[in-house]
Amino acid sequence: MEIINPGNEDYHMHSINFSDGLNTIDEIVNYAGKIGLSKIGITDHNQAYLDKRGFVRRTYRNIINRWENVYNNVKVQFGIEADILNSKGDICMDIQGVTADLIILSTHPSRPYKDNPNKITLAYLNAIERFHDKITFLGHPCSVYYEDYIDIEAVTELCNKYDIPMEVNGANISTNRTNLNNLNKMLKIVDRIYVNSDSHTLYELKTARAEAFQYLTENGFIKTHSFKS
Ligand SMILES: [Zn+2]
Ligand SMILES: [Zn+2]
Repeated sequence: MEIINPGNEDYHMHSINFSDGLNTIDEIVNYAGKIGLSKIGITDHNQAYLDKRGFVRRTYRNIINRWENVYNNVKVQFGIEADILNSKGDICMDIQGVTADLIILSTHPSRPYKDNPNKITLAYLNAIERFHDKITFLGHPCSVYYEDYIDIEAVTELCNKYDIPMEVNGANISTNRTNLNNLNKMLKIVDRIYVNSDSHTLYELKTARAEAFQYLTENGFIKTHSFKS
């Protein structure tokens, strides 16, 4: 198993500008520099998710093309956390009609996934077959949301086939939203993983990846981890 970002890089976090984080893009970037991150992906939720949850548009998406980091040397990439919409594997991967190069493929409970939960594995497999060339990695595939329905081994094997990494999600581990049985099954067979915070707060940006690495170490999936690549 290869960890793609063993060092100070974090590719899953949310801002208040575009979705449900508590902090602005500028606050996140400023703080990321203070805690020694070298590269971050700010990956707000897609438009279907925002619509379903009634988020009010705060910031025009196109304006991020003009954003520059004036605080530090942290490299910043703007991505999107996409959602699978149904068992055909349709996905929403835009915000205000604007897509991104960094696409996380996720599902969230009943919103905006509308289909029968029994079909969640089919939904993943179809989405991966159709969009594998666009998907950067799978976000929190071992979350509790569909824990009783997902065949995590089938999803992992298809990701391995297409060289799509899967995520070990720090915030989901630290807030008990991970099915550890599924996580362990995935970690036994997955080829490549990202270890990300999925932070919605600065506290999670600081602590959540460390909790994920601690889990991997304590359960024998990696040797001691020192945050150096
Ligand atoms: Zn969120
Ligand atoms: Zn998510």
